[in-house]
Order: sequence, then C-alpha cells, then structure tokens
Amino acid sequence: SASEATPGDKAEFPGMVTEDGKPWHYLDSAATAQKPQIVLDSMAWALGEGYATVHRGVYSRSARMTMGYEAARRRVAAFISASQDELIFTRGATEAINLVAYSYPKKGRVLLSQLEHHSNIVPWQLAGWQVDVCPLTEDGRIDLDAAEKMLTPEHEMVAFAHVSNVLGSVLDAPRAADLAHSVGAKLLLDGCQAAPRLPVYVDEIGCDFYAMSAHKMYGPTGVGALWGRKALLEEMPPWQGGGSMIDKVTFAETTYAPPPQRFEAGTPAIAEAYAFAEACDFIDQIGRETIEAHERALVRQLREELGRIQGVRLFGPEDALGIVSFELPGVHPHDLGTILDEENVAIRAGHHCCQPLMDHLGVPGTARASFGVYSDESDIAALMRGIDRTLKIFA
Ligand code: PMP
Repeated sequence: SASEATPGDKAEFPGMVTEDGKPWHYLDSAATAQKPQIVLDSMAWALGEGYATVHRGVYSRSARMTMGYEAARRRVAAFISASQDELIFTRGATEAINLVAYSYPKKGRVLLSQLEHHSNIVPWQLAGWQVDVCPLTEDGRIDLDAAEKMLTPEHEMVAFAHVSNVLGSVLDAPRAADLAHSVGAKLLLDGCQAAPRLPVYVDEIGCDFYAMSAHKMYGPTGVGALWGRKALLEEMPPWQGGGSMIDKVTFAETTYAPPPQRFEAGTPAIAEAYAFAEACDFIDQIGRETIEAHERALVRQLREELGRIQGVRLFGPEDALGIVSFELPGVHPHDLGTILDEENVAIRAGHHCCQPLMDHLGVPGTARASFGVYSDESDIAALMRGIDRTLKIFA
C-alpha cells in the first residue's frame, strides 16, 4: 500500500526541501525529477577531478574519460537491454525524436496519437511527414483497435508515447509494434515517462526506436538517448555535421563514421553522460518493479481521495501510472497551482505541451500531480489540504 516507506529516501535528494528548510511536496516529477546526491556527486567528479575531453586526447586523463563515456553508453543501453552500438547520446528525448524525423530515409506517413507531447508532433511536421492521428479510448488510452484500422502500407512510421505525460495511460507497446510491422512500418516509442517508472526492455517490446530523457530518470538535464535498430541506423544519413562524426574529411568529399558516432557531432555532454549512467544504477538498485508498484499505489490513493470531491473531473484511466490529471469545479488550474505553492506543494498546471490532447478533453489545461521514488502519503496529504483550502476560497 501507499503507506509503505518510499523506495527513495527523501533525504538523498537535496532538492526536496524549501529554501527555508521545510519539506517541499514536489509533485512535478513528470516535468523533471529531483536528483539524488550520488548523481550530483558523479556529475561533480566528471566536471572536476576527472574532467577532460573524450575521443581525441592522447593523454591518460582523456583516455580514462573516453572509457568512462563509452561505459556510460553501455550502461544506458543495458538499462533497456540494448547493445552499445545502437545507443546514441542526444540532448534529450526531443532531440532523439527530431533525429529520427529528419534522418529516417523514407519520409512518408507517420501515425501519431491524440495524446502526444508536442515534441512527438512538431518534429514530424517540420521534417515534412504526413501526419495521421490515432484517436483515444474513452478512458484515455491510445486506441489500438482504431490504429489497426487506420494503418496502411503507406505508413513508414508509428510514433507513440509509451506512457502519457498527462493521463498516465500505458501503451500496449508489443501490440503497437506488431501493428506497425504488419504494414511494414517502424515503431518509435517516446519513452520519457515510461523509462523512470516501468521495466523497459526494447527486445521484449519489439519496437524499432526508443527515446529517453535523463532528467526525468533522476539524472541531469542536457542529455538523453535514442536507441535504434542497428540496420536502421546504418541506413540513416547524419543530421548534424561536425567533429567526431566523420571518417574522412576533404573539401571534395566527406565520409562518415558508423553509428552511433555518426549522430554525435561535436564534443558531447560528457559529465551528463556519466551522471545519466549513475541515474540508471540508482533506479536499478531500487528496482523498477518496486518503483512501478509504489507509484501505482500512490496514484490509486490520490484518485480515490480526489474522487470524493463533488464535481471533480479525473482524466486518464483508473490504472494510470505515476501521473494524475484533474480539474476542480470552478477553479482554474493556475489558481490552484498558485495557492498550493503557498503550502509548499508543487504541481503542474496548464497544457503540459499537449495542446491537441487539451482540445480533445475540451479544457484549456489541467492540474497535474506526478510522483517519483521519493513521493509518499505526506505529499498527498499536503496536496489534499491545499485543495481543501482552495475549494473554500472559491466556494
Ligand atoms: N515526451 C514526453 C511524453 C514528455 O513528457 C517530455 C517532457 N515533458 C518530452 C517528450 C520532451 O522531453 P525533453 O524536453 O526532455 O526532451
């Protein structure tokens, strides 16, 4: 039950207190997660005592840094049961999706869903794909029965969120992969919200591309990853040019390094990659099954408590993962967020970078509470106290 101890000790997270040392009820982990001390230490080491560039130095410090950077690649790849030569470090999930949208050689139709984050919509539009939109079920899942009817041999790509950042709904990813493959399309999963909360193994899912952001996985900002099948990456031309991504450069002709280096132009986010690997260790030491069960219990409890409020609207399915979006009667989500802030409770209010989903729900925005390993019942209690006060103010 949600009354069990948190799997991640709040004391390990320096960000979990207010400036005047009070508990901060941080319920915005779906936007970005707080970082445990070991991740901060790893970043500080890599920028301090350990610091040097990678891939070019002939001196030992640089050689050690290069080994560490490549070890980080192996670690992040292993996190999703992938091999290191299929794992590209990017600036985040946004860049990972842009990379595929721009570099995938057969730009045709892409099937997205109504609940996608803007970063899984706009890159496809910008790169010139024809976008089709899969509808949602009544309770806010991507409707795979509808997807099955919509998919045609003209579709080159299906790109879906593995877990919705607004509704918390979890995609039946293996079925989505089968559906995509049945018409010869590839499946890209936006794993931003799944990677920190679910065991994710790309070989079991059978997808073709997987995008992640470290900062939602208790790691730093500025780094993320794209996993792609080797045969597909090899067919993809580079999308940014510069140092480190080449084989041979002359003014007449330049040839490129094989993947993943082909897609990593310039000096990479070295310390961030180190800390990303440390964040993967942090998650796996706790165990993703444990984190999933913990967040499911918190969601169940919060949905139950919110459900007792007269006129409340709860979005997303009963079995949502880690995330609860809701609307209080007669209260704008921004007003709720502002009042909660006075009580040291942080929620997100707005469209959550999902304007097409807001249009579908018929609201300008929602209030969203989202959990992490450090969340517990005290956070829910503080949220409910703040909601109570808000409802009295607006009554
Ligand atoms: N997709 C989803 C589902 C997200 O929640 C987010 C972050 N809000 C993104 C993509 C974009 O991630 P980033 O900004 O870290 O690249």
